[in-house]
Amino acid sequence: MMDFKVVERSPFARIARMVLKSKNVAMVLGKTVHLSGVSRETFLKDEGWVAHELCHIRQFREHGFFRFLWLYLVESMRVGYYNNKYEVEARKEGMKHRRHLNPSHKAARAIDPSGVPLPADSKRKH
Ligand SMILES: [Zn+2]
Repeated sequence: MMDFKVVERSPFARIARMVLKSKNVAMVLGKTVHLSGVSRETFLKDEGWVAHELCHIRQFREHGFFRFLWLYLVESMRVGYYNNKYEVEARKEGMKHRRHLNPSHKAARAIDPSGVPLPADSKRKH
């Protein structure tokens, strides 16, 4: 398992959550997953969501903290959240854990597009 930390009720995730107008947000900064509107327990139980955020942690490690923030921002401005290659990669990681779910369950558990140029992800309520 990758080395990572989880912070509940993070002020950073809270800001992202307000900007996104969403109920819950997981935002990765370095090797820490910042949560707002979701408990550590609920987050960790969701394998697909954890795999998605762990992918962002790996991206931070591979590119370096500030360099990854910059690359992510540029990519977001260029192609938007959904086509952002760092999100595409993280989404694939998250999907691997959802093969056993039926399609409607998959849709309900999908990660919503984000409107902030940061690796901040929100989940629809199900
Ligand atoms: Zn993401």
